[in-house]
This record gives sequence, structure tokens and C-alpha cells, in this order.
Amino acid sequence: MKNSLAIHGGEPVRTTALPKYVTIGEEEKKAVIGVMESGVLSDYLGSWTPQFNGGAQVQAFEKEWAAFFGVKHAITVNSNTSGLYATLGAAGIGPGDEVIVSPYSMCASATCAIVNHAVPVFADIDPDTFCISPKTILPKITPRTKAIVAVDIFGCPADMDGIMALAKKHNLFVLEDAAQAPGAMLGNRYAGTLGHAGVFSLNYHKTIHTGEGGVVVTNDDKLADRVRLIRNHAEVVVKAKGEEDITNMVGYNYRMTELEAAIGREQLRKLPRLLDARLKTAAYLDQRLGKLDGLQIPKVPDKVKHGYYVYTMRYIQGNGMPSREKIVAALRAEGIPVAPGYVEPIYLQPIYQRQIAFGKEGFPFRGEHYKGKADYHAGLCPITERMHFDEVIYGDYCHANLTDDDLNDICKAYEKVFANLESLNS
Ligand SMILES: *Cc1c(COP(=O)(O)O)cnc(C)c1O
Repeated sequence: MKNSLAIHGGEPVRTTALPKYVTIGEEEKKAVIGVMESGVLSDYLGSWTPQFNGGAQVQAFEKEWAAFFGVKHAITVNSNTSGLYATLGAAGIGPGDEVIVSPYSMCASATCAIVNHAVPVFADIDPDTFCISPKTILPKITPRTKAIVAVDIFGCPADMDGIMALAKKHNLFVLEDAAQAPGAMLGNRYAGTLGHAGVFSLNYHKTIHTGEGGVVVTNDDKLADRVRLIRNHAEVVVKAKGEEDITNMVGYNYRMTELEAAIGREQLRKLPRLLDARLKTAAYLDQRLGKLDGLQIPKVPDKVKHGYYVYTMRYIQGNGMPSREKIVAALRAEGIPVAPGYVEPIYLQPIYQRQIAFGKEGFPFRGEHYKGKADYHAGLCPITERMHFDEVIYGDYCHANLTDDDLNDICKAYEKVFANLESLNS
């Protein structure tokens, strides 16, 4: 019975939960208390005054973020989602436009087009990086294409050099969704700084967090200005500011509070250490899990420093091998959490399948403003569908709170299951 899988009644490898990822410590507590004692929890005004761009913590955090990432502008917002919405709006995206997006991401990476009344067009992903690529983007470009939203999914930067070259040729705006990749690099440049603008997430599940929050980065002065306007009720200040170009100057309230900014300043200081831990852990997992037949460990492209937001593998089911779902069930029985697939390919959601977003008439997918034909049929992105439904398995296996014993348990469980694949077939 020694080698018998837990799913067949054997001893599980592990009976206790893996530790949670915790990045909040004394530093953040102190920072929050400092803000509380000041009594000023947010210091914005929705009028053309010095406070239009936020209070002391917000401004300091933005300065520090820009310096760390080597960009001219960092603009804090209350989520990555609102950052994506504001940035496409600032870039002038509007009705009739198409935006090329990834189907294998969190929904907001595509919704940002819809919210700006444009139509998302899905490019398939590269099966090694899970990101959209110049090769998959090119056939999707039409005369209506205005922008590309590339996602550094799972912490791996997309081929941004290739994407920028393509965008230059076709005069497209490129937004990099680096929600999962703060600190990841392409050569000596940070993920998030590789497009015309990039957006980071600071929600609780990400590498560093402020509870909720996001940061937009760009080197483009005019774009930065427009993002700041949209963040804070643009329409009411454009007159006082003397703003001529008022397209999309329909403002929201996307402001980050002083509390989150104070937390974010501490979190940013911890980012290098938290990322180093992820890289070390991934190297250990690569070494052990890389030996298992049928399991493909994350591929890291040339010049890329991966962020390992999660550890994403592919299960390549050979002849006579059990389904991915059986592998997942067996690993879970051993006490190791694992997820089959990531999120359902975005275009399979009802908003796309029924093409209902604003109102009942199909706007922005159908109507006089849009001369193209939105296409979201099942099978549209076959690689994404294969990755999601058949091959991808991943776990939150790289974070800094996992000990050597935890990592050993994770590897032991995979080794045990893959040594007993035949028994899963019966
Ligand atoms: C988390 C995430 C988002 C959304 O971030 P929020 O800060 O929660 O709005 C967007 N894109 C990707 C790829 C994400 O992982």
C-alpha cells in the first residue's frame, strides 16, 4: 500500500493546508496608523486645484513607483480594472473601433474595450507563454483596429518588442496589462513599461497589494494627463484647465485613498525580496517537476525574468494516459491544491455569446457605428481552448511563505501521482 494513491485509499502526502501568502507586516500597520492619525484618509478634490491629483501619500507613492520602474509617470487608481478603462479612454478609443485582446486573462483585459464602446477582437495565445503574440495578432488587424491589450499572464512578459514593432507599422496603441507581473523583466526593462502604457494591480491576490488598487505607468505626458483627468471627474475640470481635446473626458472616480497609498509604499519596498523568493522556488520546482513525463514546466523565453505569479504547467496527455481531470483529482486527494485550466476563454462569456452589453440592441457589438462583424464562436481561439480545457494545470506554488517542507510535499505529490498514472486509468 506504500505507493498507493490517496485517491485509491492510500496515505495522502499532506494533511494540512499550505501556508497563506502574507505580505502585510509591521511596516504597513505603522504606515496606516500614520495616515489614521493625520485624520485625512483621502485628499482629492474634483476641481482644478493642487489637490486634483491627490494627497501626500498618493503623490509620494506615485513618485516612488515611477522611480522604481524607470518611467516618467505613475498614476495610482483604485484597481487595475479602472486603470485599464481609464487608459484606453485616454488613448481615444471609442465607438466603431476594434481592440485586439487576449482570451486567456481576467475579464477586465477585454472589458476595457467594451467600456470605451469599442469591440474586443480576440487573438489566440502562444502555447509556451500563454500570451498573445505578433503572429496571432497580425491576422486580426483590420482598418478598424486602434489598439492592442497585451497581458503578461501568470507573470511572463508577452513578446512586447514584437508587438510594439507590429503596432508601429499599423499605428496602434499598445496597453500592457501587467497585473500579474510586477517586477518581471524583459532584458533590463520592467514588464508594464514595454508598451505605450501599462497597468499593475494591487488587489489582495497579487504579488504585492494594498487590498484594492492599481497603477498606470507611461512615458507619454499627454496620455498621463488624460488618465489623471479620467481618474477624477474629467468633465468638470476641462474648462478650468483649458483642455482642448475633450474626447472621452467623461470622468469617473477611480481615486486611490491615502491609506492604500501608504500601504503601497511599503509593499513596493518589499517587491524585490518577494520576487526573489518566487524565482528561487520556481527553480526548485523546475528541477523536480521537470523530470516528470507528461508534465511541461513553465517555459521562459529568452531575456525574460519571469514573475511566477502562479506556477503554470501543461499536462500533455499521451496515448493511454489519464485525463487532466483525473490527475487533478489525484493531486487534490494527496492534499495539494491545484487548478485545472485558468479562466474560461473570455469570449465564451454571455456578454460575448449574446452580444449584450449596453442597452438591449447589441451596442457596441452591433449597430450603425460599427462596420465590422464581431465573431465570438466557440473554436475561435483553438490553442486557448486546448490549454484551458485540456492542458493547463497550475498552483500558487511560488510565494514567499512556502517553506522547503511545503515545496517538498508539493513535489512529492506530483512525483507520486505521475509514478502511478496507470492506476488512474481504471
Ligand atoms: C487581477 C487582474 C486584473 C484586475 O485587477 P483588479 O485590480 O482586481 O481590478 C486584470 N488583469 C489581470 C491579468 C489580472 O490578473
